[in-house]
Amino acid sequence: MIVKIVSKNFDIPDSHKLEVALKNGRYESIDKLFTMAPDDVTEEVCKSGLRGKGGGGAACGPKWKLMPPVDERPRYLIANGDESEPGTFKDRQIFEYDPHLLIEGIICSSYAIGAHDCYIYIRGEYKFFIDRLNAAIEEAYAANIIGEKVMNKYDYRMNITVHRGGGAYICGEKSALIESIEGKRGHPRLKPHGKECEWFFGNPATVNNVETIASVPNIVLNGYESYTKYGTEKAPGTMLFAMSGPVKNPGVYELQYGCKMTEVIEKIGGGMKDGLKLKAVIPGGASCPILTAEEVEKAYLDYETMWDIGSTLGTGGMMIIPEGVSMVDVAKNLIEFYHHESCGQCTPCREGCGWIDTIIERILDGHGTISDLTTILDVCETMNGKTVCVFAPAVKDIIKSLVEKYRDEFVAYIENTKEQGDAING
Ligand code: SF4
Repeated sequence: MIVKIVSKNFDIPDSHKLEVALKNGRYESIDKLFTMAPDDVTEEVCKSGLRGKGGGGAACGPKWKLMPPVDERPRYLIANGDESEPGTFKDRQIFEYDPHLLIEGIICSSYAIGAHDCYIYIRGEYKFFIDRLNAAIEEAYAANIIGEKVMNKYDYRMNITVHRGGGAYICGEKSALIESIEGKRGHPRLKPHGKECEWFFGNPATVNNVETIASVPNIVLNGYESYTKYGTEKAPGTMLFAMSGPVKNPGVYELQYGCKMTEVIEKIGGGMKDGLKLKAVIPGGASCPILTAEEVEKAYLDYETMWDIGSTLGTGGMMIIPEGVSMVDVAKNLIEFYHHESCGQCTPCREGCGWIDTIIERILDGHGTISDLTTILDVCETMNGKTVCVFAPAVKDIIKSLVEKYRDEFVAYIENTKEQGDAING
């Protein structure tokens, strides 16, 4: 199940330092990179089937092909390391243990799309990871790995800039992220009808997740077959999965796509600790519909199978929930977060998150009614498909799944606390 491609050097002492990174294969792909034409690099990545690791799972190579032909305009690569999704903590492993792999991936990816400038967007609160990343970039400049030439010999200018975000969840959405780097409020942009690249200061740009970019050097160096031999036909290769909750061995593991979820929890996570029983899993970060214990039995870690059972793979952040945890509390915890993080641009999202938060608060206070559950589901529907970005539909997905799958628990909570609420009311 575990296949170490991106995480290969994570356990090596001082793996973040250039001297150690160079001894352990970092920047080996660059010589081969410059024997290839940029379009050939893109084709190799297309053949590898590399999919984005930031949540949507879009194919990376076809995304690069959305860049217009090279002209006099500057072109940009933007590495999305915002990682604000609750339950998701994988990209920070790359910042901490192998920042030079990210720099190597940035060189490969930038060359493929014709970019000479890359911005790495990272959460402002990640001070430790920002310091580590900046130290690695400084080392790379000092060693002339990047700068006016690549590896001090290839005539290709490559500059990398780290941009710290202010901590807004929505800035993980690529167009909000671009607005943020441009110095504006981090509000998502309206999307064009057809597929096209992103636009950064009016110039063509591609936004890729940090782990996606870190997966590219292996494909360049060892060919697409080195990637497609793992995973499934539609989701080749590997992904960093972050497992949290009361399992014996929580953490981040690089697994090939397609592993059975129960086996991952048992064999990699060591099973539930302290004799706890598994109640549910939120499989890919907090905005993915929850899976009941029965659904977990049918879950495999790939996009299509997860869609078939009504959820998504998202960012691979598996949040394990044990028996004994109240789903009313889970719903409150999540909606409070989303209410706080809605950018407020669209009325259905801004007001919908607020209304659901207020209703669940009322239920928790012992003043809920059974009809509140219908109201929550109605509000969820008004949030779907009517907003600028997918934040609101994602909130709808997780809240609706909680209320529908654990309706009995919500009803019992409302009925059991009614008397108490009435008494408090006098
Ligand atoms: Fe902002 Fe929500 Fe609208 Fe997205 S859906 S743009 S987060 S208000």
